[in-house]
Amino acid sequence: MGSKELIKRLKEEGWLKTPRIIKAFQQIDRSIFLPDELKRFAWVDEPLPIGRGQTISAPHMVARMTELLRPGRQDKVLEVGAGSGYQAAILSKLVKEVITIELEPELAKRARENLKKAGCRNVRVLQGDGSKGYPEEAPYDKIIVTCACPEIPEELVRQLKEGGRIVIPVGGPGYQVLTLGIKEKGKLRLERYGACVFVPLRH
Ligand code: SAH
Repeated sequence: MGSKELIKRLKEEGWLKTPRIIKAFQQIDRSIFLPDELKRFAWVDEPLPIGRGQTISAPHMVARMTELLRPGRQDKVLEVGAGSGYQAAILSKLVKEVITIELEPELAKRARENLKKAGCRNVRVLQGDGSKGYPEEAPYDKIIVTCACPEIPEELVRQLKEGGRIVIPVGGPGYQVLTLGIKEKGKLRLERYGACVFVPLRH
C-alpha cells in the first residue's frame, strides 16, 4: 500500500476528517521515521518496532489522536514520548511549536535526526522523564501523551492552559482507554474514545 491508498482508507474509516490534518499526513513521509529494514511497511496501518522495545504508533492512531487534539496554527504543544518523532512531525505542520520529551537517549537522538530529515524545524526534542511535563515552557495549548498512564499526571493538567486539550491513553499495561481531557475552571472534563494499546510510561 502507498501513502495515497492509506490516507484514502483512513478517510473512509473516519479517522482522518480535517483537511489540514489530511494535508499534514500527505506532507510527512512515515518511512523516514522507520528503521531501514521496515521502511517498506511505512504505509501499512500497523504499529512497528523502532528499537529499545518501543513502537511507532499505527497511522490510524496518530490520525485519531491528532483529530482529538484539534491543533491550531498558533498552538504550543507538549508531547510525552517522542519515540520515532513521527507524531511530532505531523503536529509540526499544524501548530506553531512542538516540544517533545523522550526517556530513551538513543531514541531521542534518532527522533532529532528523523525530524531534521523531514525538514521539521519547529520541533524541539528533549531527553528525559516527561511524566512531570516540562514546566519551563508551560503553559501549553495542547498536550499529547503517547505512552500509557495509569492515571493523568497532575503536573500535566497544571501545565495545560485553561480551555486546553490533553489526549492520553489511560490504563495499565496491555489495555488503555484513549481519553480526551478539556481543562475547564482548572479541572479536566473527560471524554473517552475507546480502547487502545500503548507501551507504558516509565520513570
Ligand atoms: N509518538 C511516538 C510513539 C511513542 S512510543 C511516535 O510517533 O513514534 C512511546 C514512547 O514513550 C517510547 O519511545 C518510550 O521510550 C517513551 N517513554 C516512556 N516513558 C516515558 C517518559 N516517562 N518520558 C518520556 N518518554 C517516555
